Amino acid sequence: MANFYTDNKDLRFHLNHPVMRKVVRLKEMDYRDRNQYDWAPHDYEDAMDNYDRVLEIIGSICADVIAPNAEDVDHEGPEVVDGRVRYAHGTQENHEALTKAGVIGMNFPRRYDGLNFPMVPYVMAAELVSRADAGFANIWGLQDCGETILEFASEELKEEFLPRFNRGATAAMALTEPDAGSDLQAVQLKAHYDETRSTWMLNGVKRFITNGDAEISLVLARSEEGTTDGRGLSLFVYDKAEGAVTVRRIENKMGIKSSPTCELVFRNAPARLIGERRMGLIKYVMSLMNDARLGVGAQAVGIAQAAYEEARKYASERKQFGKTIDQFPAVYEMLTRMRVRIEAMRSLLYETARFVDIYKAWSFISEERKLEKEERNDLKTNTRLADIYTPMVKLISSEWCNSIAYDAVQIHGGAGFIKDFPVERLYRDARITSIYEGTSQLQVVAAIRGVTTGVYLAQMREYEKTELRPELEHLRKMLITLTDDYEKRVAEVVAAGNSELTDFHARRMVEMAANIIMGHLLLHDAQRDTVRAASAELFVSMAVSENSTRSGYIAGFEEKELGLFKVN
Ligand SMILES: Cc1cc2nc3c(=O)[nH]c(=O)nc-3n(C[C@H](O)[C@H](O)[C@H](O)COP(=O)(O)OP(=O)(O)OC[C@H]3O[C@@H](n4cnc5c(N)ncnc54)[C@H](O)[C@@H]3O)c2cc1C
Repeated sequence: MANFYTDNKDLRFHLNHPVMRKVVRLKEMDYRDRNQYDWAPHDYEDAMDNYDRVLEIIGSICADVIAPNAEDVDHEGPEVVDGRVRYAHGTQENHEALTKAGVIGMNFPRRYDGLNFPMVPYVMAAELVSRADAGFANIWGLQDCGETILEFASEELKEEFLPRFNRGATAAMALTEPDAGSDLQAVQLKAHYDETRSTWMLNGVKRFITNGDAEISLVLARSEEGTTDGRGLSLFVYDKAEGAVTVRRIENKMGIKSSPTCELVFRNAPARLIGERRMGLIKYVMSLMNDARLGVGAQAVGIAQAAYEEARKYASERKQFGKTIDQFPAVYEMLTRMRVRIEAMRSLLYETARFVDIYKAWSFISEERKLEKEERNDLKTNTRLADIYTPMVKLISSEWCNSIAYDAVQIHGGAGFIKDFPVERLYRDARITSIYEGTSQLQVVAAIRGVTTGVYLAQMREYEKTELRPELEHLRKMLITLTDDYEKRVAEVVAAGNSELTDFHARRMVEMAANIIMGHLLLHDAQRDTVRAASAELFVSMAVSENSTRSGYIAGFEEKELGLFKVN
């Protein structure tokens, strides 16, 4: 039987990372649920066994139901009927299969009918679903909205909305408007408090909303009349049962066809406030988007894995000049670079998920008791790391997923341009990953803080201290040389005291940092599993070559050259 979880050794390898012992202990609060819920784990081994079994179920649904439906869904797509979205037949079947398996709302606490899973296995599930059908992965992944309800809404709202996910309710995150895209501070959809009905009312239009006709929607709206910036925005939860939002149209898109992208009209739509007024964008949406960015990172890794599998299979079967094309250096180099990059971005993805797990677990514990000094420090460190690793993961995996899908088409030659092969769909699906949840340029805007504040550098120096076998030592030295060079270039750019120059080189510096960090992570992977040494070797030499181009460019660049780039 095909299974997308068990056919990829990388996943169990990352699931069994040594830090998971800490993640699980914190998440399960020393396994206290075992006395109350008979499905709660008794200890670490029990919890890990549970994650493994659930991922195996998801892996099997992905291989047997979702992936086989992907082509038909791509052709059929959703449609709007009388202001409501009707999913493609296969999308409905996919959703029912996952709902029946009880894996929607999988990381919510058990008291809200969740499985209390940490982020690591949840992100893994997102990767699996994305490999099967990246468009459907959006519908499934919008359960992230529940995480925002869990973290910031009142107990009353949690009890009302969270258990519905497990019964199959879908969600939407309604932020974007025609004039508010990257700049969400410009959101105009109006929220006013209706004294007679004792409820908030929403009026206005939202654009590009994935799964906009969902049962549960989180809506960013301007609650403070007369304001024009982010501090006048609040977050609301809207229940579709109110019947006050219509879908005006769905977009005709390049890819991810199974995921309906809606234009929504809110007419006196009753909605409930989440948390406090004015905190909508600056606190709650920032947190929601960080979770969603990790989700897009997983989506990108899943698409890249699917594209790689297709390319490898095709190259091993297609013969030209009397041999299979995977015997030509030009082709096998492409295939190996794809594989090594996927391994690197996956290591970065799960490292980030562990930071997120630890800081979220401490935050929940802190709601019940005062944290000790050491615990507070651990919370702070992991929050800081999660904050700067998340945009890095989103940037790198989405950009690499695009280039991997591009190479996968190339390996198929003319066949890759024809709709008979799945790689054509994967190429189209890949394109959105570097656009939504903040474009790559916006990820750089977030990640550059990690460069200028020295947080990435400090973490690289921390990684350098890890114990390694002697045969990996030369790779550590190469990474230390890259880090010294990175430190020097960053210092030069910062010393110029010109913020435009910093912005100009920002992507180069973030990408240099990412290469070094992923190099270390692959080295650590090789320390745990000797067969991974070859990937670390290949990746570090790729990083040396790529970073030297970027470093050389920064070193030779003069500030006055900025003017040459300006568009008149
Ligand atoms: C298929 C799809 C699904 C979507 N799903 C959702 C959803 O579920 N919910 C939701 O709320 N939104 C959703 N969106 C909206 C999406 O998040 C936005 O399209 C995206 O954030 C970019 O905004 P924009 O399209 O207005 O582009 P713009 O903001 O107009 O950007 C245009 C270009 O300018 C660049 N740019 C803008 N500002 C800067 C800056 N400060 N520095 C450097 N470069 C900059 C951008 O990188 C981009 O290259 C979806 C969009 C699509 C296409």
